[in-house]
Order: sequence, then structure tokens, then C-alpha cells
Amino acid sequence: MQELTHYINGEHVKGTSGRFADVFNPATGEVQAKAPLANADEMAKAVEFAAAAQPAWAATNPQRRARVMMKMVSLLNRDMDKLAEALSREHGKTLPDAAGDVQRGLEVVEYCIGAPELLKGDYTDGAGPGIDMYSMKQPLGVSAGITPFNFPAMIPMWMFAPAIACGNAFILKPSERDPSVPLMLAELMEEAGLPKGILQVVNGDKEAVDAILDHPVIQSVGFVGSTPIAEYIYGRGCSNGKRVQCFGGAKNHMIIMPDADMDQAADALIGAGYGAAGERCMAISVAVPVGEETADKLIEKLIPRIEKLKVGPYTSGNDVDYGPVVTSAAKANIERLVQTGVDQGADLVVDGRGFSLQGYEDGFFVGPHLFDKVTPDMDIYKYEIFGPVLSCVRAATYEDALGLAMDHEMGNGTAIFTRDGDAARDFAARVNVGMIGINVPIPVPLAYHTFGGWKKSVFGDLNQHGPDAFKFYTRTKTVTSRWPSGIKEGGEFNFKPMD
Ligand code: NAD
Repeated sequence: MQELTHYINGEHVKGTSGRFADVFNPATGEVQAKAPLANADEMAKAVEFAAAAQPAWAATNPQRRARVMMKMVSLLNRDMDKLAEALSREHGKTLPDAAGDVQRGLEVVEYCIGAPELLKGDYTDGAGPGIDMYSMKQPLGVSAGITPFNFPAMIPMWMFAPAIACGNAFILKPSERDPSVPLMLAELMEEAGLPKGILQVVNGDKEAVDAILDHPVIQSVGFVGSTPIAEYIYGRGCSNGKRVQCFGGAKNHMIIMPDADMDQAADALIGAGYGAAGERCMAISVAVPVGEETADKLIEKLIPRIEKLKVGPYTSGNDVDYGPVVTSAAKANIERLVQTGVDQGADLVVDGRGFSLQGYEDGFFVGPHLFDKVTPDMDIYKYEIFGPVLSCVRAATYEDALGLAMDHEMGNGTAIFTRDGDAARDFAARVNVGMIGINVPIPVPLAYHTFGGWKKSVFGDLNQHGPDAFKFYTRTKTVTSRWPSGIKEGGEFNFKPMD
């Protein structure tokens, strides 16, 4: 059995707590590795190394820091296949999807090459007689990030690339479900020229997370994961005086207007609802056709497409549509929620229950499900299922459809499919959700924009990546300097505006 390590101060280090988490191969159900679960002492050691290494890194000029990012981009491209394979083996997603996971992280590393430009401060020449004023963006010191299982390459890079480009040291606590790719990324960053101690990976669970939240040296915490944990981390981190941003769960609605191209809408729903087995925070889990006729047409188009979906392990070729879910517990939770849908009266028009794959009977595969006539009081509507289950809620009017997206407690992403520009503009302007797609089902913003939801999908104010990340990972310091020319005026005792 492979025993995974932490990556501390440039070395692979064995866990000393004696506690481990099983890392599965979700396709076979076998335990393929054990991930060490750090205790507070192990975390404190990493913080010590980070704090020792950070001042020299902060003093390294931003162009040199950016060169590490440049090199990292080429190393990610060099190792793309290796990273994708390691990712699929622990996560279960298909190889093209795993490469996409790496690619979307790589794009943020590329964005961080612009650090010298993004970190330029503001300057006012002649703010008063002999007075100049300038603002600097300085790193926070030691930052930490806690990441989910579903994007083990992308989300760590969304955090550590800007944090490090800004001159911070970063401690990553990845998901204990799939920690191998984060460890590989830390090695690659050092190959790219990053000094030891600036990026460390400490594996763990709640104990390691609490050690981060309570450590006085750690200045900021980024979290991505489920909403209850996001809320907990935000509360404890903030009350300990840290800067915290937490991104939580989702329940993304896609509105289908009567004038939409129904084939296009159905194809979009297949990819957005079932891709990655529904384990995406930007997955569409609720389809909202407007009008009974639209709903009937949509369901009719969806059923044959869903029945054709190819579910399988990543090893069986790139035509597989989606793989297994991450653990047997995740599978059991999906099955439980599907059963509540049936019990609470939704119409299970595609029944994926009892799905089994020959040769992979112990894998965590879940067949695709489609529920019709779902209502907002049902559990399958209220809760995030995080599986290949699409719920169709029929709305009588556009206002009803908009109201559903607005009233749901989650607000990560949403989409509208229509040919009517006015409806699309109205939707984008009024809906209280962070990321909007217009005829785009998964509207994940590119690296130079920012990513973040609203409502219970987020705790904190700044978004991930783009210019917001450079605000999150820096502190502003403003200097007022006076070089009097000519006669000195003596002491000035009154607080007064600049002349
Ligand atoms: P999770 O909340 O179970 O775990 C996320 C991280 O928190 C992991 O590193 C885990 O070790 C840690 N953790 C788990 N339980 C903890 C506890 N009790 N105390 C402290 N830390 C704990 O989430 P997950 O299952 O890994 O990921 C799926 C969730 O993440 C979904 O809800 C999904 O919507 C969400 N997600 C959100 C975004 C976003 O940007 N909003 C992106 C990806 C995933």
C-alpha cells in the first residue's frame, strides 16, 4: 500500500500523527494509497518553515517571482498527461476532463505572470507642498488554503499562484480524497525555481484545518468546499483575526425559454448536468423550462440523450462521458437523495438506480437520473446532490422561473437559454447569483475575470482569481512623504487638509 507524504520545506515527509485517510481508486473501489492526516504539531512545523522563507521571497522582485510562474506554465504543459492520469486515478473523472482541470489552473498561473503590473501601487506626485503620497501592495506573510476533492489541480492553483506571485508563502491543505496531484504541483513549483518553504502541502482533515484556523502566524485562509464547512471556517478564521474567503456549495438553475433552440438546450444540459458525474460546483442540477409545452419538448429531447450516456472508468477510452463518484459515501448520499425524490412524489423519468458496470462492480458508479415535476419543497431541489441527477422544475412564466433561481439559498451560477436578447439582459441584471450564462450552461469566468457566487455559496467579499486575488493576497500600505524645500516652518500641531 502506497503511503503518501506531506511536502514540507522542499521534502517529502512522512506523517507522524499515526492517522491516515484511505485514498480510493473510485473505478474499482480499492484503497490505492493512504494519506497522512497532520496534527497541530506537524502544521506548526510547516508554518515555521513558511515564516522563515517568506521575507526573502517577498523581497525578490516581482518580475523574478513572475518568472517562476512562466516556467511553471511550461512544466504543467510538459507534464499534462502525467498530471491528468494521476488526477483521474484518484478522482475518477475522465482523462480529457482531468486535463481540463489542470488547464483551468494553468490559466491562472499564466495570469499571475502579470504580477509586476498587477502589483504596481498608486502614486500622487505633489499631494501638497513638497508632499508625495504612494500606496504599496505588500504580501500578507503566510497564507493557507483548504481545497475540495472535485478540482484537485485547478483550485489549489487558483489559490497558490496569486498568493505566491504576491510574495506570500502558502500552505495548502488539499482534500484527503485525492492529494497526489497537489503534491506533484508543489514539486513542479520548486522545479520552476520557487525557494523551499514557499509552497508546502500538509495533508489532513478537520484537525489540520483547525490548526490552520488557530495558528497566529497564518494571516489568510482561502477555502473551497461545501457550505456548512465554509461557514464554519469563515466564522472561526475571522474570529481569530484572519482574512478569510470561503466558497461553498451550489444549486445551479438553467432557465429554458420557449424560444430557445431546444436541441442546443438539451445538449447543454447533458454536459452541464452529467459531466464529471455532476461533481462540479458549476454543474446544472435544476432545469427550469418555461411553459408546459417547453417542458414536454425538453424532456422528450433529454431522455434519449441521457440513455445514451457512456459511464465508465477513465481507462476505457476518451469517449466515456463520465466516471464514478469519488467515494462509496458520496454514492450512498446520492442514492439516499434519489430515494427521497421518489418518496416525495417527483417523476423519475430516467431511473439510474441499480447501475452496475461489468468488471467494476465495486466501483462507485452511479447511473444517470432525470426527475421531472420536481417542486421546491422536495429535498432533491433544496439540497446539493453532487451526482448525475438532474431535476426539472416546470415554471409557468419567466417571472416564476426567475423567482426560483432568486429564492434558492444557493447562488453560485445560473444560465438562461433563449433567442430573446431582452429576456437575457433582464435575467442577467436581476438574478441574485454570482455567475451568469446566456446560452452558456457552465459560465466559469476566465482567469482574468473573477470567480465567485452569491448568497450561501460564498462567505467573504472578494472573489477567486483575476484582480480580486491580488487584492486578497496583499495589504495596502500608504506612505505620505514630505521633503520640505526652503525654510523649515517648525512644528505643525493641527490636523489639517492638504493645501
Ligand atoms: P468538503 O466541504 O467536504 O471538503 C472541503 C475541504 O474541507 C477538504 O479539504 C476537507 O478536508 C475539509 N473538511 C471537510 N470536513 C471538514 C470539517 N468538518 N472541518 C474542517 N475541514 C473540513 O467538500 P468536498 O466534498 O471536498 O467538495 C465538494 C463541495 O465543494 C461541494 O459542495 C461543491 O459545491 C463545493 N465546491 C464549491 C466550489 C466553489 O467555487 N463555490 C468549487 C468546487 C467545489
